[in-house]
Amino acid sequence: MTSTMIETATCRLCPPQGGVVVATYSGDGPASRALHRAWQEANATGVPHHDHYDPSLDAFVVVRHHG
Ligand SMILES: [Zn+2]
Repeated sequence: MTSTMIETATCRLCPPQGGVVVATYSGDGPASRALHRAWQEANATGVPHHDHYDPSLDAFVVVRHHG
């Protein structure tokens, strides 16, 4: 599975202009892994991140907000 430029569903937390998927985790796994990764990325970069489940990928995705 590629980790760049994935066409992905959006959620209410996604910024209107979209975000960048920086990580994906299997939809079979616990959502807490994606949640933790989003927290780590936000702390490391200072840019807001969030995670959501993408039914089209059957995966939890970590989304980086622009700016
Ligand atoms: Zn989202």
